[in-house]
Amino acid sequence: MIRILIVEDERPISDLIRMSLEDAGYICTCAYDGMTAANLLEANDYDLVLLDIMLPEIDGYELFEYIKPLDMPVIFITAKAELADRVKGLNLGAEDYIVKPFEIVELLARVHVVLRRYRKTETHLMFRDIVIDTENRHVTKNGQDLVLTPKEYELLVLFLRNQEMTLFRERIYESVWNAEYSGDTRTLDLHVQRLRKKTGLDKELKTVYGVGYRLESGKIE
Ligand code: CA
Repeated sequence: MIRILIVEDERPISDLIRMSLEDAGYICTCAYDGMTAANLLEANDYDLVLLDIMLPEIDGYELFEYIKPLDMPVIFITAKAELADRVKGLNLGAEDYIVKPFEIVELLARVHVVLRRYRKTETHLMFRDIVIDTENRHVTKNGQDLVLTPKEYELLVLFLRNQEMTLFRERIYESVWNAEYSGDTRTLDLHVQRLRKKTGLDKELKTVYGVGYRLESGKIE
């Protein structure tokens, strides 16, 4: 099930978005101010956040800074059509930007594209003979069950979702441990070592010295 957090202080708009997304089969939670949204984000995992910019207390930009390390895609929703804001939103790293008033069809299409880009709609991730069934958190290697600890599992999912990309230690740590990276690499390095051993990906799971790790198929140089 795909869970979406809607952060929008105008109730009629929030209700309309929630109803449309629920009709499309998504599970929705609504927050009407930035503080409530921050608390919800701390306690729950979402696959996507729809984020209004003009919010009481904490605005959408501030909240976005908070969401960034959580590795959740964000679509900004705003009444401000000015180009400067549009650029600001995308520069911050948001996946997309939608301007009020918008057609529900357009919103649904954008939500779908972002989820697909983030591979949230994919229930199976594959690399060589390793298959992850993300709905059931089940991993197999060459058809045999592979038992991983929760952190090893999260690490493997992250690597399979970002194949051929160098992942910074900082980003990996913040995404898997949900905590700020203090510069201590031992925990992360140890987990990667164990993951290499369990998955047999000794060669593919490369150390990028001084930077982080990259899962390489060997096809791309
Ligand atoms: Ca607003």
